[in-house]
Amino acid sequence: MLSKQEQLEKLNKKMSACSDCVLRTQCSRVVPGEGNAEAEIMFIGEAPGKKEDETGHPFVGAAGKFLNEMLAAIKLKRDDVYIANVVKCRPPQNRDPLPEEVAACWPWLLKQIKIIQPKLIVTLGRHSMERFLTGQKISQIHGTLVIKTIEGIGKQNFYTLYHPAAALYNGSMREVLIKDFQKIPKVLEKIKRES
Ligand code: URA
Repeated sequence: MLSKQEQLEKLNKKMSACSDCVLRTQCSRVVPGEGNAEAEIMFIGEAPGKKEDETGHPFVGAAGKFLNEMLAAIKLKRDDVYIANVVKCRPPQNRDPLPEEVAACWPWLLKQIKIIQPKLIVTLGRHSMERFLTGQKISQIHGTLVIKTIEGIGKQNFYTLYHPAAALYNGSMREVLIKDFQKIPKVLEKIKRES
């Protein structure tokens, strides 16, 4: 039986050879995601940006720096969590991924979640939230624990945050994001207590 780490490595190799949508023809590389295969918390953003496309690592630009700071404030390192995106290839000019691109990439994300089996999925931004909690409004559900059964995953705990890139230069959204982020340890404790 392969360890979770080994399973992810195998998966990442396959993902790197993916050409299931047009995005792969325009980006430099696939950015599968990274972190602790045994993580209790999995962060899911939207798609790689310029820096991520250059380096192959998720959330390494300005938004990533902000994410690292918020993690440090709750005494977590990137190595403690897993960080991935809904779409693994950078859309040109950072445009929103198209529905068919999100659909093409969905099986990869499902496989990642099935291997890691996180206790909590933290969605970063509206697009990531929408993939799991379709029809919800981020302004209403940010900072709250939502339990939902997702086909292919089963019952899963979700916690929605504003996207660090959107909040970075918006004072009031930034404050809300920081406050919501600080509640993550308590949310995780509650999940563990009740499971
Ligand atoms: N924004 C995202 O949604 N994901 C990244 O990896 C970087 C920026």
